[in-house]
Amino acid sequence: MPAPTLAVVEQEARACTRCPLHRGRTKVVFGVGNPQAGVMFVGEGPGEQEDLEGEPFVGRSGRFLDRLMVEEMGMTRQDCYICNVVKCRPPGNRDPLPDEIDACRPYLAAQLELVDPRVIVTLGNFATKLLLQTTEGITKLRGRSYPLGDRVVVPTFHPAAVLRGGGESVAQMRADLVRATQLLAAAGPAATAGTAPAAVSPAPSAGEPLFS
Ligand code: URA
Repeated sequence: MPAPTLAVVEQEARACTRCPLHRGRTKVVFGVGNPQAGVMFVGEGPGEQEDLEGEPFVGRSGRFLDRLMVEEMGMTRQDCYICNVVKCRPPGNRDPLPDEIDACRPYLAAQLELVDPRVIVTLGNFATKLLLQTTEGITKLRGRSYPLGDRVVVPTFHPAAVLRGGGESVAQMRADLVRATQLLAAAGPAATAGTAPAAVSPAPSAGEPLFS
């Protein structure tokens, strides 16, 4: 059987009823951007505006992310791929529950496999903990990069948290995006050879990876 395309997986997600979040959604927020991007951003879950428009990061934190992407990476959202851990909005923007994250995990796994990015920028605790399979918080994990199979994960703060926190967190998120750009450049020839770039820290968990 041929491997599914991103469009086929998206179509499946649009009809998804795997968890209770489907009951409250206006639109499924699957993902947006270049389906062959070298860098993928993974957020937490859609907010109000994203639920209405069906596109990730289109509210205030999304505009901030767009700006940092241009300023620190020279990229627009059309150049990369952006998605979330959960594809439907948790009510009242509450945190996604473990069962909801688990139910949605195959969609993110498919996006990773099909887009096949070299660099994954995880935005905040939920994406970082899920992809790195760790209970360690983002404040401790950011500032470095971690291998995930033949990819590299660059954890950074969630843009909404940076907008709330301001100050040093802005500079730290900018630095993380610069790191992601450098790793992407370094992955050019390495990607062809199928090996990860060298300048990464050991993975924080020793468990079986859920994503590779
Ligand atoms: N916050 C997220 O984590 N994702 C979005 O798409 C919007 C806000």
